[in-house]
Amino acid sequence: MSFIDERVEQYAAEHTSDDGELFRRLEAETRDKTTAPQMMVGRIEGRFLEFLVRLSGARRVLELGTFTGYSSLSMARGLPEGGLIITCDVDKETTAIARRYAEEAGLASRIEYRLGPALETIEALEGQFDLVFIDADKGNYGNYYEAVLPKLADNGLIVFDNSLSSGRVVDAGDDGSARAIAEINDRVLNDRRVECVMLTVRDGMLLVRKRERA
Ligand code: SAM
Repeated sequence: MSFIDERVEQYAAEHTSDDGELFRRLEAETRDKTTAPQMMVGRIEGRFLEFLVRLSGARRVLELGTFTGYSSLSMARGLPEGGLIITCDVDKETTAIARRYAEEAGLASRIEYRLGPALETIEALEGQFDLVFIDADKGNYGNYYEAVLPKLADNGLIVFDNSLSSGRVVDAGDDGSARAIAEINDRVLNDRRVECVMLTVRDGMLLVRKRERA
């Protein structure tokens, strides 16, 4: 999924460190067994998430939207010893694929899988999170934002995926999914509790941090 020139996207991917053979197999199996493989973050965004985790020193990460695990595996690589990702999804088949690859990669002890609607999962969570990656159903992004903000550590980061909705946010019109994304983009921008930066990585990523003094 890309709305920049495909050759440029390809060039960027080729100049991003290779994820290795296990990720290639995960990608192939996802293409083979799921109907929307483009939901995987892929190499560029996966590496970027790994960098964010590593550079921020995040120890507790929450992910909404596990799918087959490309992003959780990527982020798990960036965690320090003893770090943990809690990831949730409503789909038990894709979660089983994610779990299998995490086990094979030796990263299963860093990832906890929860099955069920993300809002219920968030409600049941204790403790604070250093990084929250929001990549589940787009219509609930606003609800996810309000639910995770109180659980965000002081220097924590929220990352929304698909913030450009293939460019459709610019003129969302009657497009429900693009409108939901455009609404949360506007809400975050105007929320004095936080600061944000939107990146044109892949389908857009909105990075949000709490202001030191709101
Ligand atoms: N982060 C994943 C990756 O890189 O492979 C992709 C996530 S995919 C875009 C979105 C996922 O959200 C799907 O696997 C879907 O089953 C899940 N999902 C949809 N509605 C959900 C909900 N209410 N609660 C939790 N997960 C949900």
